[in-house]
Amino acid sequence: MALLSIIVPCYNEEATIETFYTHTSAVCEKLNSVEVEYLFVDDGSTDRTLELLRKLSADKPGVRFLSFSRNFGKEAAMYAGLEHAEGDLVAVMDVDLQDPPELLPEMLDIVRSGEYDCAAVRRVDRKGEPPIRSWFARQFYKLINKVSKTEIVDGARDFRLMTRQMVDAILRVGEYNRFSKGIFSWVGFRTRWVETENVERSGGESKWSFFKLLIYALDGIIAFSTAPLAVASILGLVLCVVSFIAIIFVIVRQLVWGGSAFGWPSMVCIILFLSGIQLFCIGILGQYLAKTYLEVKKRPIYILREEGEHHDETK
Ligand code: UDP
Ligand code: MG
Repeated sequence: MALLSIIVPCYNEEATIETFYTHTSAVCEKLNSVEVEYLFVDDGSTDRTLELLRKLSADKPGVRFLSFSRNFGKEAAMYAGLEHAEGDLVAVMDVDLQDPPELLPEMLDIVRSGEYDCAAVRRVDRKGEPPIRSWFARQFYKLINKVSKTEIVDGARDFRLMTRQMVDAILRVGEYNRFSKGIFSWVGFRTRWVETENVERSGGESKWSFFKLLIYALDGIIAFSTAPLAVASILGLVLCVVSFIAIIFVIVRQLVWGGSAFGWPSMVCIILFLSGIQLFCIGILGQYLAKTYLEVKKRPIYILREEGEHHDETK
């Protein structure tokens, strides 16, 4: 029988873990000819998450958990899960039921048909989200798809079911600055999109503030495009042309009309403008340098503090 590993990153999710398990296991019991293992990853939670996971894995067969030494972020949690999953098929799901488990049977059929290596979920609307956030999200997807060769699908969730082959490919992408939405797409393979409506959290709170999302978006652009680096050269070139025209204008004016130097305020404006552009470009360079710096350090993506699995006492 094939084994399906379900990876579930959890960060301060004491409010949602139990509902998640009851809901998902109810759906999974109906899946035929596949055995299911749950792999919860506690991402350094500071609430009762770890305690609940210990209890769950002690009570329920097929439940394992990993626990980090601190909060390493969802990307790291997914990576750890993929590394430790033993299934022939692997799924990644949020614990807040925003990834409806009811879709699992359909996703399983898609991957098992052999035509696709991955079934991934994208939401077709953004109901229940602040409009300003949706607007920024949409602009982000437009921008990143313009500047990056890797296609990043608007509304794609991290909810997917993949073959072992694809998981192994993802694990080979061992970069430290992980932007999974890009990595999933970068490794290729045939993905079939399953569409769903936006679902609100079953409980607890989202861990993503607007500011965090903005940083995440910028990280994504830096990780999957080098286009911003070209901004400096293009701006430099444009400014050279403009200043050349200005020089000719000044010389001609001097020769024809004469007169002394004037325009001190405009000079200040120009200097400020140019130094602004220069700093901006150095900033872009700095961003890439910083990422390179973190990458060359080769720090581990996550550090485990505890692992646990179900022990069958009757055996
Ligand atoms: N998560 C995590 N580490 C973090 C932040 C979030 O493992 O640092 C998990 C979280 O427990 C949840 C999933 O990632 O299972 C999605 O988080 P959340 O629901 O807060 O994000 P949203 O759905 O609002 O984008
Ligand atoms: Mg959520």
